[in-house]
Amino acid sequence: MDEQARRELRLASAYGLSLGALVRIQGIRPEMLFGLMIVSDLCRGTGAKALITSVVDGLHMINSLHYAGSAVDFILSLVEDREDWVAELSKRLGRDFDVIDEGTHVHVEYQPRVGASR
Ligand SMILES: [Zn+2]
Repeated sequence: MDEQARRELRLASAYGLSLGALVRIQGIRPEMLFGLMIVSDLCRGTGAKALITSVVDGLHMINSLHYAGSAVDFILSLVEDREDWVAELSKRLGRDFDVIDEGTHVHVEYQPRVGASR
């Protein structure tokens, strides 16, 4: 984590979900916004803090859903059992979202599965 991220994390400490200063959100999909409401709710319920570090900005794989406004990265802190928290988020978001713990951050993407039943 660099100094900028550290500073933002300190500033964000009063909130459950917050947005990094340099993050660009232009073109974020409404479905992803709904997903972030669930992230926010889980933060408030558990005391965890999530700082969004990337939406449509940043460097990602060429076909990344970030560029379509369908993916968000956030740094997760103040969480007791990270694995449990991520699993709970995945459960609450349901089958149309993927939640991946990348270690340094959590990646959430909206990727509806047409006709799939899970
Ligand atoms: Zn990502």
